[in-house]
Amino acid sequence: ERAREVLAAGAERGDTRLGVEAMDLLSAYGIATPAGEVVSSPDAALDAAEAIDGDVVMKVVSPDILHKSDIGGVEVGVADGDVHDTYEDLVARARNYQPDATILGVQVQELLDLDAGVETIVGVNRDPQFGPLVLFGLGGIFVEVLEDTTVRVAPVSEPEATGMLDDVRAAPLLRGARGRTPVDEGSVVSTIQRLSQLVTDFPAILELDVNPLVAMPDGATAVDIRLTID
Ligand code: ADP
Ligand code: MG
Repeated sequence: ERAREVLAAGAERGDTRLGVEAMDLLSAYGIATPAGEVVSSPDAALDAAEAIDGDVVMKVVSPDILHKSDIGGVEVGVADGDVHDTYEDLVARARNYQPDATILGVQVQELLDLDAGVETIVGVNRDPQFGPLVLFGLGGIFVEVLEDTTVRVAPVSEPEATGMLDDVRAAPLLRGARGRTPVDEGSVVSTIQRLSQLVTDFPAILELDVNPLVAMPDGATAVDIRLTID
């Protein structure tokens, strides 16, 4: 129901591309996301940051800006004392990039310890012949560089999703190479299946990327989402 609302709200605004404002889609499908909220003033940002232990991550929220870090729209590790200024900076950078950009606000998010995890990507594309294709691979900057991804046709079963983890060359990274603690594979597998279910339930979703899905020893957390709706 909440998922339907998020998609309807986007459609009502006339947005065909959604970003952070669609994070609720993930929680509606039982996918873990970092604590956080989208706010629309520096004061509200500080309240949101104070509600989260330690430093936070702040991101500009705009349907016109889909690659936020490319325009300086993501600040990782912001102390409470810097939240006000960072809010203004993020909005200014977005305006500078595109003066008429619709800015819905700023997302204040819990800071995850990426050293303890592996950034992966789960994506969906619709193929005219096969329907939704689900992709899994290493996330972050590695997606383009390593082209280490694998694809299945949705809906993806549990054995198929497990097979996707086996497929990628980076699999040892997930399984504890070099003395690292192995990530919670079951949680990555169930996230792949839940996203596969989401796009099966909503044919209006043409394309979807969760990048990164941070795979950690204690579970997988979806940090960022981007999707195209019809
Ligand atoms: P975009 O892909 O639009 O540039 P992201 O939300 O994916 O924006 O953030 C870019 C990068 O910043 C991520 O790939 C990740 O490395 C880092 N990052 C984002 N959110 C967090 C977070 N909550 N905790 C730790 N690192 C983060
Ligand atoms: Mg991203």
